[in-house]
Amino acid sequence: MPLVEPVIRPPSEADSFLLQITTGCSSNSCTFCGAYLNKPFSVKTEKEIKEDIEQWSRSFPDTRRVFLLDADALVVSNKKLLPVLTALAEKFPLLSRVSSYANAANIIFRNAGELRELAEHKLRLIYIGLESGCQELLTFCRKQSGVSDMVDSVERAFRAGIKSSVIVLLGLGGREWTSRHVAGTITALNQMQPRYLSFLSLMLVPGTELYNEARQGRFNALNARELLQQAHDIIAGLELKGTIFRSDHASNYLSLEGRFPQDKGFFLSELSKAIEGVRSLRPECFRGL
Ligand code: SF4
Repeated sequence: MPLVEPVIRPPSEADSFLLQITTGCSSNSCTFCGAYLNKPFSVKTEKEIKEDIEQWSRSFPDTRRVFLLDADALVVSNKKLLPVLTALAEKFPLLSRVSSYANAANIIFRNAGELRELAEHKLRLIYIGLESGCQELLTFCRKQSGVSDMVDSVERAFRAGIKSSVIVLLGLGGREWTSRHVAGTITALNQMQPRYLSFLSLMLVPGTELYNEARQGRFNALNARELLQQAHDIIAGLELKGTIFRSDHASNYLSLEGRFPQDKGFFLSELSKAIEGVRSLRPECFRGL
């Protein structure tokens, strides 16, 4: 069946087969997020999912990568997920990786054996929206995953053979929370040591609680320069031993790509140039979510 829109996936999954396991987000509670405002959460049936696999395999039998939709496809149990992963491996002989967004509960509610089973069935990468390492800020934004559970999730997934791609949301909390957002995020990321790290920049989405707060003058959003400064300050505090970093998401003013630790100086110098105005930024009209 056709994908139930709107569909959101990481930029790095642009060439993947998008297989919808669930629709929407099982929590849908974050005050800043408009991704699934009008899309109720539901779980597709195994029959529907297998039909989608069958249909895609007829047109694209050489598919190598699959991304499971929507916001937290891993909310479904291994009992339901493993037959789907088995069907993917059968239909796509060149399959190298299945990935999915995941929240902390999706990982910590599984035991080590269940996580290993997923990895053995080629679920090799999860995208975790840390947003901020400041627990008070996450609570304020009503995000249901907690910082310590997300740190734990990355560690447990890694031990099972599943890499993590962690997403930080620059500008979350606005000016009021900047220093706490920066400090908490540095601490959490240094504990996580994720394989991949990406930054997104907060954009106010009509219909969200945060958008309404901002319209009423109760939220002071960061401007472009302040967002770049926040990115700079977080990166300055990171002590990552082997992380691939990207800020290529369309919401960001500056697109960077490289590796920690060797490119940390380069990231800082490019951000400093952007803050000083000697490096061009993505025009506002080209920003998006
Ligand atoms: S940020 Fe993630 S967890 Fe929060 S409502 Fe949006 S999709 Fe759901």
